[in-house]
Amino acid sequence: MSKRFDAHEVRRYESLLLALRHELARDVDQVERDLEHDPRDVLDRGDAASGEATHSREREILRRDAERALAIDEALARLTDGTFGACATCGGDIPRTRLDALPDTRECVACAAASEST
Ligand SMILES: [Zn+2]
Repeated sequence: MSKRFDAHEVRRYESLLLALRHELARDVDQVERDLEHDPRDVLDRGDAASGEATHSREREILRRDAERALAIDEALARLTDGTFGACATCGGDIPRTRLDALPDTRECVACAAASEST
């Protein structure tokens, strides 16, 4: 049980995270469908080069979605073990406004800014 959040808040963040993961799964489905159909359509028009470009852009989206799905799963695990809301880098509290906007974040604003600039 989380020390930072009461049972009600834990449930609220859990449903936020589950909704995010659901949305992500729908996105991945869409991209996978596009991957099945688009390259062939493009190749039929004899434009293999842009077909490849589309392909790699979609692969990149899938890779990022997979990373996000992992981050969401980790956040759900942190809700269970009570470390949700603690910055993974400095151990400080992540502000609730940030958690509401980005419930799968692992770092507070300052640490996230620092790790982005390195
Ligand atoms: Zn921090």
